[in-house]
Amino acid sequence: MKKIQMVDLQSQYYKIKNDVDNAVLNVMDSAAFINGPEVKSFQNELESYLEVKHVIPCANGTDALQIALMALDLQEGDEIITADFTFAATVEVIHLLKLKSVLVDVDYDTFTISTEAIKKAITPRTKAIIPVHIFGQCANMEEILKIAEENNLYVIEDNAQAIGADYTFADGTVKKSGTMSTVGTTSFFPSKNLGCYGDGGAIFTNNDELAHRLRGIVNHGMYERYYHDEVGVNSRLDSIQAAVLRKKLPHLDSYNEARRKSADFYDEAFAGHEHILTPKRAEDSSHVFHQYTLRILNGKRNELQKFLTEKEIPAMIYYPVALRKQKAYYQESNDADFVNTDKLLGQVISLPMHTELDDEQLKYITDAVLEFMG
Ligand SMILES: *Cc1c(COP(=O)(O)O)cnc(C)c1O
Repeated sequence: MKKIQMVDLQSQYYKIKNDVDNAVLNVMDSAAFINGPEVKSFQNELESYLEVKHVIPCANGTDALQIALMALDLQEGDEIITADFTFAATVEVIHLLKLKSVLVDVDYDTFTISTEAIKKAITPRTKAIIPVHIFGQCANMEEILKIAEENNLYVIEDNAQAIGADYTFADGTVKKSGTMSTVGTTSFFPSKNLGCYGDGGAIFTNNDELAHRLRGIVNHGMYERYYHDEVGVNSRLDSIQAAVLRKKLPHLDSYNEARRKSADFYDEAFAGHEHILTPKRAEDSSHVFHQYTLRILNGKRNELQKFLTEKEIPAMIYYPVALRKQKAYYQESNDADFVNTDKLLGQVISLPMHTELDDEQLKYITDAVLEFMG
């Protein structure tokens, strides 16, 4: 059996090696390393795939979030509501910009931000909501967009984990994750569903004015060469990464399908087990399984992880600590408002999930989990 990895980027690369190698060598040959034609072509191709008017490439997913917030003219102390159960980058950028993060609970079944908790957290200083499409499934955008409209708030989708997912609104409209709100962001970190071979990120919007602003901010606040209208940043997707992404984007749907097939295998193996809850698939969003995350109900999650490690099966705890309890983002809170987050911290375990898992590996993993869980 092939060695089991949390993410197997090497086997995936071997399948498209010729294509990628040639594309990278062509960039070297052209010497157009920064803002070359590969970047522009990738931008256009991603705009078509996502059916969004503007894609603004940038250096990574954290920058994408920061730049999105910078473009919205927020004032120091303005409040941004986001989930307590997410990767720290989401809240980090809020603090970097001297805005105030207001962390709220998530739904127990989908791990995404709780709309009830959002409603309770809104104050006159609230300016935006950042839903995170965590683990590969969209937050309840129908409701979030409604709340935002009623309260005149921006919505910034953190789509680093769900690129390629489809969201279906009650009226039947289908949109790609990251394109439903004021602005969406993503990361092309190698292990994401659409990953490059280094760092990369992008921002999406359908708003022309905002797109113009974002393009200036990523480029030193420059709207005309050497005229700096505002303080910006330097955040670029380099041409080599764009060339890699152009070769991978046509495979994104089949990559997500492969992840879904592995998730189906896991679901079936654990179905009905009294101490294992499989991840819920929401009715309004497709699931692209950036992570496959179980909830272990018998209190033996850590022992399970140890058991799997002994069997050379990697398994990860995403996430072990609530953001509101992190030293950097500590927020006075009433634990009663965070029952789902706090329960999840003690129950979640993510199993290997990538595009290259085969049935032999999946069987070995599920057998091991079931051997431990009884
Ligand atoms: C990966 C990730 C980011 C940050 O992306 P980087 O490219 O690593 O900066 C932000 N938010 C979420 C939810 C992520 O998973």
